[in-house]
Amino acid sequence: QLPTIYAITPTYSRPVQKAELTRLANTFRQVAQLHWIVVEDAAARSELVSRFLARAGLPSTHLHVPTPRRYKRPGLPRATEQRNAGLAWLRQRHQHLLLHQRAQPGVLFFADDDNTYSLELFQEMRTTRKVSVWPVGLVGGRRYERPLVKNGRVVGWYTGWRADRPFAIDMAGFAVSLQVILSNPKAVFKRRGSQPGMQESDFLKQITTVEELEPKANNCTKVLVWHTRTEKVNLANEPKYHLDTVKIEV
Ligand code: UDP
Ligand code: MN
Repeated sequence: QLPTIYAITPTYSRPVQKAELTRLANTFRQVAQLHWIVVEDAAARSELVSRFLARAGLPSTHLHVPTPRRYKRPGLPRATEQRNAGLAWLRQRHQHLLLHQRAQPGVLFFADDDNTYSLELFQEMRTTRKVSVWPVGLVGGRRYERPLVKNGRVVGWYTGWRADRPFAIDMAGFAVSLQVILSNPKAVFKRRGSQPGMQESDFLKQITTVEELEPKANNCTKVLVWHTRTEKVNLANEPKYHLDTVKIEV
């Protein structure tokens, strides 16, 4: 049986949200045995996302947790609480399955809602034994960042930004086996002590070492995921009066 791929997607309400989720669902729907964990950054699950997931045509779990207001500031890492909620859900569900002696193979990765994912990426990450890594396009002020590989081992990082990071890799550049997540129950994303850009390193050093990383995508020479960002929408001409006669979800 194929290991299940669990994709944890933090998401928040904004004009492009449904468009982003639509693109993501159109990709994920084409991947066998994928379970989508959508975590809203909100005080409650929204109607928009609930309705969307009900019609998305793929297995999903819908969670929510609001980011405390004090952490909603430029320069602070985003979606810490949401990724941790996804991790907590996974651990709880599988503890339960373990109790019933139904341990299932799985791979977890963090799928931001605005990135672009090739289908090949999922074939690559599916064979993750502990923690796998690969290049990410359009990130860190470069065309790509990538792990440097020698004799099948990661020996360093090609990056233009904070090269002192122990794991100089974006959230979109790694996957973790479910077994590693379950056997390191305390590994979480931290607010305290985590500087900008150190979320990934801080998390990865709780569960693995650089020597142990499994390079994917042809020894990290192919870009299969892009850290795309969506332009802020211009709503300057939204009416204040003379509203439309129907209410339309966008
Ligand atoms: N996100 C969130 N709450 C926020 C800001 C972002 O849940 O207040 C989510 C967002 O939907 C995305 C992820 O966190 O899935 C990363 O955010 P973003 O894409 O803005 O970060 P960047 O591209 O700058 O790394
Ligand atoms: Mn993004």
